[in-house]
Amino acid sequence: MAERLSFSDEVSNLLYAAHGNPLTTCIQCGTCSGTCPVVPYMDHTPRRLIGMITAGLKEEVMASNTYWSCASCYHCNVRCPQGIDIAELMYALKRLSIWRAQHKEGLIGPVFSETFVKTIFKSGRSYEPVLATSYLFTFGVQEFLQEAQTATSLMLKGRLPVLPPRIKRLDNFGRMLRRIIPMGDAK
Ligand code: SF4
Ligand code: SF4
Repeated sequence: MAERLSFSDEVSNLLYAAHGNPLTTCIQCGTCSGTCPVVPYMDHTPRRLIGMITAGLKEEVMASNTYWSCASCYHCNVRCPQGIDIAELMYALKRLSIWRAQHKEGLIGPVFSETFVKTIFKSGRSYEPVLATSYLFTFGVQEFLQEAQTATSLMLKGRLPVLPPRIKRLDNFGRMLRRIIPMGDAK
């Protein structure tokens, strides 16, 4: 019978194409957390999240907002003394939580990402008016009205398409996407 992978190995496998050193080489120095500009918005610092992964705390890691708050600035990567690719780890955890449909309720990131992928499956292109609806309401009515006004101005100036653009040979594109993104039933 196939041996069940530990959570730490599962995450490490997701990083097989990244350039960094294994997470197990982390010395918990905290340089990444001290460098990260969005730590105040994270429920666990990057240092602690890595410690939780190596400790196998899967449920807690999957429920964290840390990787959804990551701004991909790469400051942590540049300063980590162990050469760990922390930014790529954040991307890998986003992918994992979407594939497993295991993420904290009420986060904008997962909804935005799913809407983006579904839009790409449907038309082959990103379409801002659809993407915006996945998060704009969370900022309140005033923000929504301001953004709607901006979108209307952009449409009138021809900077934003009124109808979603659609690429040629969309079926071929969809088949290719289904091979790399396990969201094959996205409609
Ligand atoms: S900077 Fe690198 S070694 Fe230090 S805690 Fe962060 S990941 Fe670990
Ligand atoms: S890449 Fe993400 S985790 Fe690293 S410092 Fe920037 S925001 Fe923080």
